[in-house]
Amino acid sequence: MEPKLSPAVIQTAQAHEGPIETDAVIVGAGPVGLFQVFELGLLEIKAHVIDSLAYPGGQPMELYPDKPIYDIPAVPVCTGKELTDALLKQIEPFGATFHLGQTVTVVRKQDDGRFFVETSKGTQFLTKTIFIAAGVGAFEPRTLKVDGIDKFEGSQLFYRVKNPADFAGKNLVVVGGGDSALDWTLNFTNEGPNKAESVILLHRRDGFKAAPASVAKMKELCDAYEMQFIVGRSPASTRRTASSAR
Ligand SMILES: Cc1cc2nc3c(=O)[nH]c(=O)nc-3n(C[C@H](O)[C@H](O)[C@H](O)COP(=O)(O)OP(=O)(O)OC[C@H]3O[C@@H](n4cnc5c(N)ncnc54)[C@H](O)[C@@H]3O)c2cc1C
Repeated sequence: MEPKLSPAVIQTAQAHEGPIETDAVIVGAGPVGLFQVFELGLLEIKAHVIDSLAYPGGQPMELYPDKPIYDIPAVPVCTGKELTDALLKQIEPFGATFHLGQTVTVVRKQDDGRFFVETSKGTQFLTKTIFIAAGVGAFEPRTLKVDGIDKFEGSQLFYRVKNPADFAGKNLVVVGGGDSALDWTLNFTNEGPNKAESVILLHRRDGFKAAPASVAKMKELCDAYEMQFIVGRSPASTRRTASSAR
């Protein structure tokens, strides 16, 4: 799925003569950064928002645009993309300026109390306030360190799921033990339009950073022979599967 941007909101600043002087810079256009635009807007402060990604939305947009989210107050269920679209709609009146596809590399306090901020693209700011809404940091996938594996990237090797339908009916190995790995493992194992032919979850240890409920569900699915979990640390442990995963 390609993210749809709202042209009214997303204005990537072009080249400037000297630093942009402003009241507020927000680092990160994830849910927190976007809602910060709203909070500042209520105070009639316009913000400049910077993100490494080419589009706003942070983790929900980049890592799980189609996954259902159940814990937003007053919203029974929405996807990562729907959450982003709603936040963008909510901040539309406040005219933020977005500087996307660039990473903040310099933040320096000036003698006059303002902050000098510079990005990887050379955009510079002098701002009275800076809001760090950088979440878990700028996104860079941790790549597999296997000789020659790069040539499979984009055909058989993927570091993120853009369109879950691309993986429907396939034999999948999901590598990792965080929320992302567990969420996609469950998504592709459960009945539904994106169900895979088979799913193996491969993790370096028998312990997970993911939400305990997701781990419990994964183990249930293993016990029901719906999927497999393999610990991939040593030759002996790679033979361990579902029932020995507990
Ligand atoms: C697979 C998965 C499923 C999840 N499911 C749920 C769920 O169902 N419900 C829930 O409540 N939470 C869920 N979460 C957690 C939720 O996504 C995060 O808590 C939330 O995204 C945090 O928002 P944020 O704005 O603080 O940070 P982020 O969403 O991480 O956004 C931070 C942004 O800052 C940018 N950034 C960082 N450093 C820089 C820099 N130096 N320069 C420029 N830009 C920078 C990043 O590119 C990023 O876009 C899930 C997380 C994952 C990975």
